[in-house]
Amino acid sequence: LKWVYRFGGGEAEGRAADSARLGGKGANLAEMASLGLPVPPGLTIICDACTHYFNNGRTLPEDLKQQVLDGITAMEAITGRKFGGGATPLLLSVRSGARASMPGMMDTVLNLGLNDETVQALGHDAGDARFAWDSYRRFIQMYADVVMGLDHEIFEEILEDEKARLGHEYDTELSAVDWQHVVSLYKQMIEDELGEDFPQDPYLQLWRAISAVFASWMNPRAKTFRTLHRIPEEWGTAVNVQAMVFGNLGTSSATGVAFTRNPSTGENALYGEFLVNAQGEDVVAGIRTPQSITEEGRLASGSEKPSLEKLMPDAFAEFRATCLRLESHYRDMQDVEFTIERGKLWMLQTRSGKRTTKAAMKIAVDMVDEGVITEPEAVCRIDPPSLDQLMHPTIDPRVERQIVGSGLPASPGAATGEIVFTAEEAVAAEEEGRKVILVRIETSPEDIHGMHAAEAILTTRGGMTSHAAVVARGMGIPCVVGAGSMRVDMRNETLLGIGGAVFRRGDIITIDGSSGQVLKGAVPMIQPALSGDFGKLMAWADKTRRMTVRTNADTPQDARAARSFGAEGIGLCRTEHMFFEGDRIHIMREMILAEDEKARRAALAKLLPMQRSDFTELFEIMHGLPVTIRLLDPPLHEFLPKTEAEIDDVARAMAMPPAFLARRIDALHEFNPMLGHRGCRLAISYPEIAEMQARAIFEAAVAAAKKTGEPVELEILVPLVSLRSELDYVKTVIDQVAAEVLGETGVTIAYLSGTMIELPRAAIRAHVIAETAEFFSFGTNDLTQTTFGMSRDDAASFIPTYQRKGIIEHDPFVSLDFDGVGELIQLAAERGRKTRPDLKLGICGEHGGDPASIRFCENADLDYVSCSPFRVPIARLAAAQAAI
Ligand code: ADP
Ligand code: MG
Ligand code: MG
Repeated sequence: LKWVYRFGGGEAEGRAADSARLGGKGANLAEMASLGLPVPPGLTIICDACTHYFNNGRTLPEDLKQQVLDGITAMEAITGRKFGGGATPLLLSVRSGARASMPGMMDTVLNLGLNDETVQALGHDAGDARFAWDSYRRFIQMYADVVMGLDHEIFEEILEDEKARLGHEYDTELSAVDWQHVVSLYKQMIEDELGEDFPQDPYLQLWRAISAVFASWMNPRAKTFRTLHRIPEEWGTAVNVQAMVFGNLGTSSATGVAFTRNPSTGENALYGEFLVNAQGEDVVAGIRTPQSITEEGRLASGSEKPSLEKLMPDAFAEFRATCLRLESHYRDMQDVEFTIERGKLWMLQTRSGKRTTKAAMKIAVDMVDEGVITEPEAVCRIDPPSLDQLMHPTIDPRVERQIVGSGLPASPGAATGEIVFTAEEAVAAEEEGRKVILVRIETSPEDIHGMHAAEAILTTRGGMTSHAAVVARGMGIPCVVGAGSMRVDMRNETLLGIGGAVFRRGDIITIDGSSGQVLKGAVPMIQPALSGDFGKLMAWADKTRRMTVRTNADTPQDARAARSFGAEGIGLCRTEHMFFEGDRIHIMREMILAEDEKARRAALAKLLPMQRSDFTELFEIMHGLPVTIRLLDPPLHEFLPKTEAEIDDVARAMAMPPAFLARRIDALHEFNPMLGHRGCRLAISYPEIAEMQARAIFEAAVAAAKKTGEPVELEILVPLVSLRSELDYVKTVIDQVAAEVLGETGVTIAYLSGTMIELPRAAIRAHVIAETAEFFSFGTNDLTQTTFGMSRDDAASFIPTYQRKGIIEHDPFVSLDFDGVGELIQLAAERGRKTRPDLKLGICGEHGGDPASIRFCENADLDYVSCSPFRVPIARLAAAQAAI
């Protein structure tokens, strides 16, 4: 079996498209090598070898070793160096790299191949003993951590002690002799801790490092990351073995990371950070504060340290050209890692860069303008749920800011919350429904859970490419990093700000991820304007999509918000919500508790003008767009008082004895209210309720038509139908009222009567129900409940267990169950349309705002989706992507 794919010397056996086999890093290294870019030669051991490793008691395949050795021979030929010995030793990096990007989750070992002899040769060859010993101590530290399982902290402590002893602040101040001493201390530590010597055989080092990188696929961080990002465990990671190049070879050497465009704003400008005389993770680890790559970036950050552009103009020019080349080749913004060894540029990684939604929008729109991608491609470049980020509030510019600190604006948006200092506290607080800001010196992959739970993140260390910054941008939560003017005292759980401000755990602060400021207390926020790039992109989406997008709106406020987000009508107006407002609930109770029809009609007569004015307002806002109004749906007891105190109050207000009221409430009690006296069953028992609602609807339609000059497209929705005869009965009531209102006003209102398909029987009998129904609205919340026989309100107690045990993959109340509920929808759509070819079909459950479910609706040929107002832009985009 071919386990190993080589790259280097201007060619490669793999391609970017092979990421399933080679992992993202390996596939892109191969691609860069075959583009002729300066990539140190290497080889990729495929992901299948990882699966083999775990399936075979953590051993490497037999035939793998020879293939790796052949690959190393090829690397030796290209570099003119020799692995394991000689005057010019070849050192290797052993790098993890899975199919999906899992930044920092798995391990990498650098400078492999060093031992007590090769370190001497390396020093001679480079003419720089300091560099050789610096590399050796790095190798020992990484290898001991990754392969031997020793915490890297203990090495950091040794180094800190040495620096203190020598009176140095920075690593770069240590001499060759100093490093040599550190190496001996490190080796001694390993002997003391593990009772074994640091391995001197380079090949043994290599096999053990490869195994350790495979093993890191199963470390707890990586597992958590996979769960959060739904990455299958079977994928495994590839391992890349690559010739080392050295950014720590003196002051003409450097290492850095960059984005080809600004990942925060999307601005088309190279954006990145580097460190002189450094290696590997130094930039991200926040050991020294990194410098800006471009002069423009340096000026913007106000830093005095020179940019790469100034410091190494030739290498910079080549780097900039390489970035442009990569971007046009991949047709997307890239996130790259590079090293400069004695003035020579080497590319070490490229991938599509993570970005904020705002940046994603700008980049997509700009790339269309630049002629790089098409409009539909731009539409597909945005992940619909990420639009949520744009809905994040920002701080009201008119308010005065009480600034207590500032750092780098790592991820935009503003958020207010209580200070917590650990990821665990953040998670616990979220579970209690409290909003928190996670405050750390810096974050590490162990913190991702807490970062997820927090409203925003603040760190006092690190740059724009630090862990906190990258992860927060990916999650779309506001983040400020490197707030050097603030100090976190973990021991006393305090955050010290400028001007002597002291904050403790639980104190409220506000983070402005757009400006980098930290503010005292809560601050008024405003919703962002959805214009500019957003507007352009949505216009392209609207041009492409077939389905219309409506909103679920019960109040004028919802309806207005939804219109501003581009809703094209109301797909579901739940009239019952109107009955809870103000003192309407009293009249509603009067109606429910009425002892005969006469008393009930009297109460309904009082509700009529209220309903009418509600509907009139909704119709006016929707101005001629379709509006679907559902007749009363919930069981009546939901409107009644529950506790004894409440019952006493209501009884007093209604001038009836509490005991009498309690008896009436008892009589209305149901064992399974969700399967009880509700939906159209109410309209059949008490047709006067449906009559009143229909009258309110038609009178409102007349009033709104007069006022706006545009009659609404009216649709009346009968809930919880399972029999055609139920719908027939209620439709007769509606038609009668319509005729009456026409007689009284002389105005004809066109309307459709239809039903919710939310019971399996209704779906199965759709062809018969469609004889009466002029439209179907799939009520997928109830349809999911009734198809699974699973109560939505109680499912939270077992769905997570089901997911953990792999019984189901997704919560069917969040993402439509295509196989079961979906099949019922398809069947009902087909059967209904057979009877009535122009039958209008839509969906109005929570699923109407879920991209995967929207794709399903597109394929089922529905006419529209309806979702909550804030999800309307998401649905517009998802519907467009589904149509492309
Ligand atoms: P991660 O996936 O965590 O980014 P990488 O495999 O990219 O891990 O390695 C981390 C860093 O190590 C790189 O950004 C680079 O600075 C350094 N590195 C990796 N391979 C080499 C190499 N062949 N030569 C020099 N530095 C390397
Ligand atoms: Mg990397
Ligand atoms: Mg329902």
